[in-house]
Amino acid sequence: MSVGGLILLPARHVQVVPTTCELAAFRGDDAPALVDASLSCTMCLSGAVEWSLVADVWEAEVECRCHSCGYGRTVWVTGEQALRLALHPHAVQ
Ligand SMILES: [Zn+2]
Repeated sequence: MSVGGLILLPARHVQVVPTTCELAAFRGDDAPALVDASLSCTMCLSGAVEWSLVADVWEAEVECRCHSCGYGRTVWVTGEQALRLALHPHAVQ
């Protein structure tokens, strides 16, 4: 007999990475439309997403917030992608 419920793991096994994290799908030399598409909302598929690049020496991430449904998520980017975003003006209003 199986009983559904929470499975409690020791603290050292708990991942602190939010489940909404994902890896950006565009390449450093992709067209702006593809960059925008990769950052568009995964909930309602709206392209009206406000994003901001957060980068430091070791890693970079993009904080995305959908204007249509309010869904927020974090997208991890590589150094090349971060550079691409830094050069890419906010095309989405
Ligand atoms: Zn949305």
